[in-house]
Amino acid sequence: MYQRDMSAWHFSFGARAYHLGMGRVTDYRIAKRALVRAVSDGAVRVDDVCDAHPELLRAARHVGVETDRTCPICALADERADVPPDDAPTLRLVTYVYGDDLKRKSGHIVWTREELAGLAAQHRSFVAYVVEACLVCGWNHLAESQLLGHAHAV
Ligand SMILES: [Zn+2]
Repeated sequence: MYQRDMSAWHFSFGARAYHLGMGRVTDYRIAKRALVRAVSDGAVRVDDVCDAHPELLRAARHVGVETDRTCPICALADERADVPPDDAPTLRLVTYVYGDDLKRKSGHIVWTREELAGLAAQHRSFVAYVVEACLVCGWNHLAESQLLGHAHAV
């Protein structure tokens, strides 16, 4: 049985942030693909993956960055209903930052690239998590994490 231990991304990430360790950018496409396949196979219920926290959805709606990627669960639904894929951009990217160095800002959403660059210049080390969330179905998944700060500057 598939269990997600992170229904609210921003509450539960902090502790494991530094264990991702190696390399600066970690891509979660493989995990995402496996999860979508599990939904497609019926091993995981749609409800279990379309469970975006209301706060994440609010952030996605107001400050989320549009992406050309389509929501895999909406795409699956279109495929199953045998209707042409809906190209409406329903997926948004929301970036959260975590790290002790950030103090009170840890766990917060970053609104712009400039703000992220500013944090990277001011702090030694923290992790930015980019989460994708669908405004229509509530799908949410970690897209990418990145180690930032002057300790990791190239
Ligand atoms: Zn969707």
